[in-house]
Amino acid sequence: MAKTRILIVGGGFAGVYAAMGLERLVGRDPDVEIGLVSRENYLVFQPMLPEVISGSIGITDTLAPIRRLCPRTNLYTRAVESIDLKRRRVNAAAGFGSRQCALEYDHLVVAVGNQTSFAGQPGLLEHALPFKYLGDALVLRNHVIHVLEEADIERDPEVRRTLLTFVVAGGGFSGVEAIAELNDFVRRSARAFRNLDPREIRTVLLHAGSVILPELPESLGRFAQKVLVKRGVEIRFGTRLHGATAESAILASGERIPTRTLVSTVPSAPNPLVASLPVRKDRGRIVVDEFLRVPDHPGLWSAGDCASVLDRATGQPHPPTAQHAIREARCLAANLVATLRGRPLRPFAFSALGKLGALGHRSAVAEVFGVRLAGFLAWWLWRTIYLMKLPGLDRKLRVATDWTLDLLLPPDIVQLKTDRASSIRREHFEAGETIFREGDRGDRLYVVVDGEVEVVRKDAALGEVVLCKLGAGESFGEIALVSEGVRTATVRSLTPVNVLTLDRETFHSLFAHFPPLRGFFEDLIQRRLAPPMG
Ligand SMILES: Cc1cc2nc3c(=O)[nH]c(=O)nc-3n(C[C@H](O)[C@H](O)[C@H](O)COP(=O)(O)OP(=O)(O)OC[C@H]3O[C@@H](n4cnc5c(N)ncnc54)[C@H](O)[C@@H]3O)c2cc1C
Repeated sequence: MAKTRILIVGGGFAGVYAAMGLERLVGRDPDVEIGLVSRENYLVFQPMLPEVISGSIGITDTLAPIRRLCPRTNLYTRAVESIDLKRRRVNAAAGFGSRQCALEYDHLVVAVGNQTSFAGQPGLLEHALPFKYLGDALVLRNHVIHVLEEADIERDPEVRRTLLTFVVAGGGFSGVEAIAELNDFVRRSARAFRNLDPREIRTVLLHAGSVILPELPESLGRFAQKVLVKRGVEIRFGTRLHGATAESAILASGERIPTRTLVSTVPSAPNPLVASLPVRKDRGRIVVDEFLRVPDHPGLWSAGDCASVLDRATGQPHPPTAQHAIREARCLAANLVATLRGRPLRPFAFSALGKLGALGHRSAVAEVFGVRLAGFLAWWLWRTIYLMKLPGLDRKLRVATDWTLDLLLPPDIVQLKTDRASSIRREHFEAGETIFREGDRGDRLYVVVDGEVEVVRKDAALGEVVLCKLGAGESFGEIALVSEGVRTATVRSLTPVNVLTLDRETFHSLFAHFPPLRGFFEDLIQRRLAPPMG
């Protein structure tokens, strides 16, 4: 008899707890095969992610290896590119040597979560940092340390102010926890830098509503606000982020906050895989029935942040939280096995036991079993509960040790440089911004994707002279790169501009080894440096 193939897509709380539930019920059944496809081979304990920013817990201590949590599940560490519901097939991205991977299933569990979307907000894709995955926390930590290093040696007060301003958009759980941790970390770390004064640091939280933490009762939100403000966080209420450039956060009101560090935790958008599925959705989430089945698609199931599960008590969808994802996953596993065995299914019912939000520096807010707590007691509860929930004894021990040491030791300000810096990147500038100045070091080549820039040069007699205007498809910045000298002109954006930039090494590799390109740039430089006729 052919085995029943159950395939789960997504290795977050919903996917991993569904696999664990299935293993408990049918893990030893030789007629059932469980598979899980996820981009990573680990589960990230997201509620502790903000602490990775400050290094108060080790980078890998928030992770639990899926192979250990689900030893009877076949793990495919791949990104899924498409799901063919008709042919019951999942297509995963190629691995080494472009090996394709197509997996067939009898039952499919979609648990891919959601993601932060920067669509429609100019410059956010290029200059804002998301905060959802482990990689985001690591990038942010490294970026913040880099910024402190730069500020320590910067003498220009304006540039220094920009470097020492940190902005987080989103006053929900992840935004509040991120700004609390970031604020503590930069203020404590500044003491290790000879030229940094913690009083120069500005941390700003942007929140569209009038009280932060809308997930909690208003009184707790107000308490959290008081704590953050006392610690030096500036909270901007009724404020939405509109866009960003390399040096500023642009608010919907048009105001700009000069900064080199912008974190955005809003808004969340459906995972593209979910968006591509031809099933009924509610605000981008897959609509499931009370048994976690996708209606009209036998064998298709969904749970966690990507599923819209109606709370029968309130008539509203359950919120996208880890505790809901875990309960939904367990219920889904039980119902899937009941379906295989021809037994009655159990409707999903759960009301959150409590809500907790950390505010850093031994303070938190909590509502547990209807009791509201704030301050040290809430913080102690936060740590105890999350430590208990952290999967695996080894992880519990590691995190408990990290927390103890963090109480005694100064913050770790080591910057981990793991990736090669991206050689080609996109940048966005608003109208009137300086892209580079005459006399700056030539470090990148720019190609205009859209918009218009002007190239100007200072003239002792005439003041500022406009040399030319450049638009889509044209490039600038090559003269200083080829001559290994400084910028011979200033370039400013006339309209909002998107550019592609190539770093010095990439440009030189192409210039040295690709003659047609060398010829093109030599011609261009000759034309640009030629004295005007007449
Ligand atoms: C910073 C932060 C703090 C939080 N704090 C709390 C808290 O204190 N309490 C709480 O209850 N909740 C908290 N949450 C929310 C909670 O983490 C989520 O609700 C929960 O993680 C949802 O689980 P999920 O499995 O549905 O989705 P996710 O955890 O997002 O997991 C989705 C998984 O699917 C994988 N995936 C996605 N697309 C693909 C693809 N195409 N191919 C293969 N794999 C794919 C991803 O890599 C990931 O492993 C927090 C979230 C964040 C970001």
